[in-house]
Parts: sequence; structure tokens; C-alpha cells
Amino acid sequence: MDAEQFREHAHKMVDFIADYYKTIENFPVLSQVQPGYLRNMLPDSAPNHPESLDDIFNDVQAKILPGVTHWQSPNYFAYYPSNSSIAGFLGEMLSAGLNIVGFSWITSPAATELEMIVLDWLAKLLKLPDEFLSAGQGGGVIQGTASEAVLVVLLAARDKVLRRLGKNALEKIVVYASDQTHSALQKACQIAGIHPENCRLLKTESSTNYALSPDILCEAIAHDVAIGLVPFFLCATVGTTSSTAVDPLLALGKIAKSNGMWFHVDAAYAGSACICPEYRQYIDGVEEADSFNMNAHKWFLTNFDCSALWVKDRTALVQSLSTNPEFLKNKASQENMVVDYKDWQIPLGRRFRSLKLWMVLRLYGIENLQCYIRNHIKLAEHFEGLIAQDPRFEVVTPRIFSLVCFCLLPPRNNEDNGNKLNNDLLEAINSTGKIFISHTVLSGKYILRFAVGAPLTEERHVTAAWKVLQDEASVLLGRL
Ligand code: PLP
Repeated sequence: MDAEQFREHAHKMVDFIADYYKTIENFPVLSQVQPGYLRNMLPDSAPNHPESLDDIFNDVQAKILPGVTHWQSPNYFAYYPSNSSIAGFLGEMLSAGLNIVGFSWITSPAATELEMIVLDWLAKLLKLPDEFLSAGQGGGVIQGTASEAVLVVLLAARDKVLRRLGKNALEKIVVYASDQTHSALQKACQIAGIHPENCRLLKTESSTNYALSPDILCEAIAHDVAIGLVPFFLCATVGTTSSTAVDPLLALGKIAKSNGMWFHVDAAYAGSACICPEYRQYIDGVEEADSFNMNAHKWFLTNFDCSALWVKDRTALVQSLSTNPEFLKNKASQENMVVDYKDWQIPLGRRFRSLKLWMVLRLYGIENLQCYIRNHIKLAEHFEGLIAQDPRFEVVTPRIFSLVCFCLLPPRNNEDNGNKLNNDLLEAINSTGKIFISHTVLSGKYILRFAVGAPLTEERHVTAAWKVLQDEASVLLGRL
């Protein structure tokens, strides 16, 4: 790599990205292209000869950006946010610049050690129990996604129970979670070879705001034990994907413990809010957990990907995921003096992801990060207040963090129960390109989700988004 050529090109790239952010509101938030749009715009094969960076930038403008959905737009309110920030971006740049592959301590000691330290910092910020800190038997690790996090702890828990019962018991071991749990758990069960009928997604109801009921869990466990099955894994969620439901960790954790089960807590989205003292209560009971996960790449200003996972017993992970081929042997590992993160994850290779989290924590500081979260929650409250002023709409589940679940009420005597109306409203809104929201279904009801959390979103964007919703609703209702 020629350093001067890099400097010149990288400056142009920084300018390009800075201009992108400056003009981000000019793009339709949801990409409006049709499937396969790019095939005819690009050649059939790679060029034989080098092309210029300017030509590539022109193609990015003309051909790539139309196919981009702008997750960083202040008018993005779909799914959950995926934050970027200057600190996160600088960390990513440095990580790409150093481009190390830190699977073992020896392959870049700073990568392993910084990750341990930064995850200890974050654990302390979340007031996680000391057993999750790296000083003891536990510790934190950065996974790519919450899906990988739940998979690795499920594998650790599976192997732990099978060591006790013998491999033939695989057919008998049972996983529990609520029907609101992210589908990542189901995928993890498929990969881990859990019998498909032994993944219990227990029913939740509006009366508990879609949180998992300890009584229902107890009943399911008792039933399974009576027929000779072995409960071994419970996944609770703090901030479910559909509606931010919060499972009661303390009660669930006690049940898991008394049945000898591994207890995992998925706080992928809402975990970030728990850095604020007033929201920390939502993870009360995490003391009972064996593992805890939150996605710093969702709502913690850390560019994708950065999913923080803590375990109390790192040996369980290592026993499940460790390999020790000759070509990776080295003195520090052999003498058990170090953490080798390759044994805490699925792939061998791993990026220097802790740099960006370190940058975020240092460049912003805890106070600003707390303000950031509080501001988004305030904006969600503002949106809720706007809904309350329009009797045509209603909020469907109580808002806890920065997601508002709501719907447009169908006119009386209308045949539609509201599901088609709200689906039509979603389609109409998203095809304007002005804002992007998403939906879910709860108790058979089609619901609109308005998730505040993009770093650039201000009150004026939320107010304008509400106007778009009201206008499109008026058009639809006028046609009925
Ligand atoms: N868990 C929860 C509660 C989520 O909301 C999500 C995604 O939104 C996930 C897990 C999956 O996240 P990832 O894409 O990091 O696997």
C-alpha cells in the first residue's frame, strides 16, 4: 500500500461520506428500487484494467445509492436503530487500517486485552454482577450479532448438560423462551441440533404486555419433566423486538436456577438504556443470569457490528468451542496465561472491534451517552403525545423505551378489523420515501412500529413524521 495514494483516496472518501451525511435527508429513506435493479446497470464481469476512483464514485452516486435504505437518516424509524457516530466511524477506520486478525492473544495482544477491558467498563456501566467481569471466571466478548451470542451460549449450555447426561440425551433436552423471543433463538436451536419440538416458545398475552409469565414457564417445565424431558436453557428478553416487552428476570432466573438450567438474557436493543440509572431496573434480576447480551451497534453509537456478550463461566464456552491445532499453538496459550477469543465464538478470525467501542466511550463519556438515550426516549414520548391528540389512532402497548406501537383505528361498521387498513397505511407511508417505519403483529392485530433511535433524529423530524402519517391516514380513510 502506497501511503500517499492512500492519503489522497481516503481524503476523497471522507469527503464523500461527510457530504452523504450532510445531504442524507434528500434521499428516500426506504430504497424505492425493484428487485434485480442493479444487474443491468453493471458489467457482466470484473474489469481487466484498473479504473479510476472518480469513475467508481460516479457509479456509487448513480447506481448504488438508489439501492440503499438510509438507516442513518433522521427520518428512519423502522425495526430498531443501527447507530453510527464519528467515534464509531473512527474506530472502524482504525480497525480497517491496522487490519489485524485477533483470534489468539498472540496474534495481537492489544486486540484481546482492549476487548476484555472495554467490556469490563461496559459491564460496570450496566451494573452487571461482578461474576461477569474478566477478573474472575467470567468475562465479556464482542460477537458480530445477538444471533451469534445466543448460539454460542446455547452450544455451551447444550454441551454442559450432555456431559452430564450423555450424548444420547440430545433428543430430550428442552429450550424455553416466550413467543416474543427473537427468531435468532430458533435458528440457534436448529444449528445446535435441538429437537424441533423441544424449543418451547411459550404464549404471552396483552394482559402481561407480552412478557413471559413465570407461572406459564413453571407449568411447561413441570409437564416436560413429567414426561422424561430435560429442561436446560431459558432465554429471557429485555426489550422484545415486536414491542419492547420486558420479561421478569428475577422470577424467571430463580426458576431456571432451581431446575439447573442455563439462563440467557437478550437485551439486544434495550440494554443500552440500562446505562441510565432510571432504566437500570429493567435488568434487575440479571444476577440470576449465566449470560447477558446487548448490541452496542443498535443504540449505543457504535457502528455495526458490535454485540457485547458476557458470561459468568467462560470455561463452559471454551469447552464447547475450543480447538487446538498444531499450527495455532504458542507458549502463552499453552501455558493458559491468556484469553484466546477464538474459543468464545464460531469463526476463527476476528476483527479489532473493541477499538470503536473504546472510542465511543472515551470520545463521548458516560454523561453524554446517557443524555443521548434519554433524548430518544423523550422524542418517543413526544410522538406518543401527538398520537394521543388524534382520536383516529391509538397506542397499542405501553411505551417503555423509544419504540411506540400504535395503529390507525378502522371506522365503525367497517368490515376490516384494521389489519388491512394499517398494512395499506404502512405501504403508503414507506412509498413516499419521506419516512420509514415497520410493523409487527400482536394477538393477531397488525401494528405499526415507530422506533426512535437514529443519531440525527430531532423533535422536528418526529413532528414531521407524524404529519406524514396523519396525511396518508386521511387519504386512506377518505377512500373507505
Ligand atoms: N434480539 C433482539 C431483542 C432483537 O431486537 C434483535 C434484532 O433486532 C436480535 C436479537 C437479533 O439481532 P442481531 O441482528 O444482532 O442478530
